[in-house]
Amino acid sequence: MGSTETSATYGAETGRKPQFWRLAMRCTQIAGTVDVAFFFLFLALGSPILAWVNVASVAMYAGAYYALKNRQNGLAIVLIWAEVLLHAALGIILIGWGSGFHYYLLMFIPAICVSAPRRWAFVALLTLWGYYVALDVLMWSIEPVQPINPLALQIVHLFNLSVVFAMFSYLSTFYLKTVVRAHQKLRLLATTDPLTGLLNRRHMTYLADREMARFNRSGHPVGVLLLDIDHFKAINDEFGHEVGDQVLASVADILRNQLREQDLVSRWGGEEFLIILPDTGIEKAQVSAERIRQAILDFDWRSVTRTDVHLTTSAGVSEFRCGERLGAAVSRADRALYRGKAGGRNRVELETA
Ligand code: GH3
Ligand code: MG
Ligand code: MG
Repeated sequence: MGSTETSATYGAETGRKPQFWRLAMRCTQIAGTVDVAFFFLFLALGSPILAWVNVASVAMYAGAYYALKNRQNGLAIVLIWAEVLLHAALGIILIGWGSGFHYYLLMFIPAICVSAPRRWAFVALLTLWGYYVALDVLMWSIEPVQPINPLALQIVHLFNLSVVFAMFSYLSTFYLKTVVRAHQKLRLLATTDPLTGLLNRRHMTYLADREMARFNRSGHPVGVLLLDIDHFKAINDEFGHEVGDQVLASVADILRNQLREQDLVSRWGGEEFLIILPDTGIEKAQVSAERIRQAILDFDWRSVTRTDVHLTTSAGVSEFRCGERLGAAVSRADRALYRGKAGGRNRVELETA
C-alpha cells in the first residue's frame, strides 16, 4: 500500500518530465513490494481477508506500472487512487482505526497541492478530507469487522507508520530536488545567453559592477576588453543566419578556452563580446586580447562555413579607474574598438586617455 505512487503519477498527467514518470513507476514497484509483505504479515496475524486484499492491491499496482510503461497515465492514476482509497477503508473497517491505514491518505495532501491544477486541488483536498473524516466517524460507531489481537494491531500500526514515514521522506526529497533543479534552470536562463552559453548583458552588468566595487576597495587592476567580429553581416549574407549562429557559438568556445576561470565573459550585443579580466592591468589585457584575436584568426572556420574563410576580430582594451562607473570603462574600450575598426580592423587598440 502507499499513496506515494499516486502523488507521482498524479503529477505525470499534468505534463511532468520523464524523471517524474520514472519516479511514479519506481513507487508502484515499491508499493507492490510492500503489499507482498503485507500479504504474509496478515496471514501470520490471522487476518486472511486482509491478506487477500493485498493480492488485489499488488495486481492493481502491477496494472498501474504497465499502464505507466505504456503511457496510459489516466488509467494508472485511477488504479493508484482506487487502490489507496479502498485499501485504507478496508484495512480500517476490518481491523480498526488503530491499524493506521488512514496515514496513507495523508500522503495525498502534498501530492494534490504540488501536482493538481489549482481549481481541482481545492475540490480534491476537500473530498479527501471528507473521506478521511467519514472513515474516522464511522469507526466511532462500529466495531472492526475482523479484529486482530492488540499486539498484532500495534505491529500493523507501527508497520504502517514506518512505511508512510519512509515514503514521505522519499517524496519530500524528490520534490526538493525538482524545485532545486527548476531553480537552477531558471537561473541559467536568466543569466546566460542561450546561443553561446556566455553571460548575458544583464548578468554581466551585475557581476562587473561587483568587480568594480572590489576594485575600488582593493585597487587591484581590472582589464576591460570589448571584442567585435569584423564584417559579420557578410558572414550572415554569404552563408546564412544559421552558419552565423554557429560562428558566434564557436567564437564563444574560443573565448572560454583562451581565458581564465575568474574572467567574466559575456555576449554584450549581437556579435560583440565584453570581457572583464580581474587582477589584470591594461598591458596584460592587451596581451590577452591579441592572443584571442590570433586564436580566432587561426581557427579552422571550414568546419563551420565549409569554405576557406578567415574570420577576423577587432578589440578595444581599457581598464577600471578609481571612482568611475562601469559604463565609463566600457565606453573607453568602445572608443578603442572604434579606432580599431577605422584603422582597418583585425587589430587590438588601447584606450588609456
Ligand atoms: P563591423 O566589422 O563594422 O563590425 O561590421 P559587421 O558586419 O560585423 O557589423 P554590423 O553591425 O553591420 O552587423 C552585425 C550583424 O550581426 C548584423 C546582425 O544581423 C548580425 N547578428 C546579430 N546578432 C546575431 C545573431 O544572434 N545571429 C546571427 N547569425 N547574426 C546576428
Ligand atoms: Mg562586427
Ligand atoms: Mg557590432
